[in-house]
Amino acid sequence: MAEFSIIDRYFKKNIVQQQDVILGIGDDSALISPPLHQQLVVCTDTLVSGRHFPVDTSAHAIGWKSVAVNLSDIAAMGAKPHSILLALTLPAIDHEWLESFCQGLFDCCAPYQVDLIGGDTTQGPHLTITVTAMGWVESGQAITRSGAQVGDYIVVSGQLGDAAFALAHPNHPLRQRLDYPTPRCELGQQLVSLASSMIDISDGLCQDLSHILQASHVGADIYLESLPIDSALHDLPLTEQWQYALAGGDDYELCFTISPQHYEKLCQLTTSPAFTVIGQIQSKLGLNFMHHQQKQMLDLRGYQHFA
Ligand code: ADP
Ligand code: MG
Repeated sequence: MAEFSIIDRYFKKNIVQQQDVILGIGDDSALISPPLHQQLVVCTDTLVSGRHFPVDTSAHAIGWKSVAVNLSDIAAMGAKPHSILLALTLPAIDHEWLESFCQGLFDCCAPYQVDLIGGDTTQGPHLTITVTAMGWVESGQAITRSGAQVGDYIVVSGQLGDAAFALAHPNHPLRQRLDYPTPRCELGQQLVSLASSMIDISDGLCQDLSHILQASHVGADIYLESLPIDSALHDLPLTEQWQYALAGGDDYELCFTISPQHYEKLCQLTTSPAFTVIGQIQSKLGLNFMHHQQKQMLDLRGYQHFA
């Protein structure tokens, strides 16, 4: 089956929902009418089989995750997701696989009204999926990594460490959290003009929070007893729980900094999805771990210290 029949059969059948998509799949490029007073937010992420997901991951989950990780980056800027491009490299044509891959991809797009508006389909030695996501944010309102202020709370959405635990225990029910991360698109947009900085957690909290600290020229205290960790992990030794929650990766939760006053406002605005204060920004550079007010020295695998 030629490239064109695959495009027609699997990708062109999706009906573009948004009126500002003037041209979707089928021409040399897609065409979008940008809304007034908005900035385009754009990001891309590649998933390689065996590297970014276990080889036994279902086609449906791969389709979902390839969209979710990108929408998570859009959410982390405070932007509203709009559309995606899909560059797909397939070792062979497997119709059953393509059918459920597309289903997973569209299932992740649907709740956020995101349209697939183009892409590229090629044959190659390894299954590789690159999604490019686009979104809009009010001009000048994007939430970057560089705005954290001394005294701000450090807050995370959802739970930490579920996906890393599932990677080590592939048959555990938490596998769902590894295969089907939830991009926090609504929360991200609600944080515009409230959060001072934001990032999404893909490489583990410490790694990703340290990007905020470096960009903002500040340090942080982390309260280990406050980390939102699933009850399935509570029987593990504390250091192992912290390892998953702080350095695990693949969480796709939001980590943001917010002044105590703005945090009050946020709590009045929404409490869903759950979010938790896990620390506070300090002027002293570096990352401090506290457990019930006692300083803890942690040696986290996969976490590179700085400062
Ligand atoms: P070109 O040769 O001009 O690059 P293609 O033949 O690659 O165009 O693609 C034809 C149309 O199909 C384009 O609109 C392109 O965006 C779309 N397309 C190709 N592959 C995909 C895909 N995997 N997902 C969505 N759209 C795709
Ligand atoms: Mg092409």
